[in-house]
Amino acid sequence: MNCFYHPEKTAVGLCKFCQCGLCSECAALVDDVLACKHRHEDEVHQLEQFTARNFFQSKRVASAYYRNATFYSLVGVLFAGFGAIQYRFLGLQAVFFIMTGLFLLYAAIANYLEGRKQK
Ligand SMILES: [Zn+2]
Ligand SMILES: [Zn+2]
Repeated sequence: MNCFYHPEKTAVGLCKFCQCGLCSECAALVDDVLACKHRHEDEVHQLEQFTARNFFQSKRVASAYYRNATFYSLVGVLFAGFGAIQYRFLGLQAVFFIMTGLFLLYAAIANYLEGRKQK
């Protein structure tokens, strides 16, 4: 079978969402399954979240939540820190940064709690 997007290339697998053949260039790994790169990555992720019900997969989902939590908290601290440092110069704009940072920290906590629920 050949790639759906590159008929001249051999497919390495199928997109879990649309079942199209994908070459190594078009294949994106989402939650350990293949997806059309830049096309169905989000769809496959949703699909995996939805179907991840058994023990082994729920563990995988929990680690994804923790990964999100780490990412959000890092970006959140960056935003809030930047806003706090720049407050004297940016004024209202800095408040916007701080708010965004706080929101991201909130998202981090929500993800962390959600990850704990998965165990
Ligand atoms: Zn696809
Ligand atoms: Zn391709």
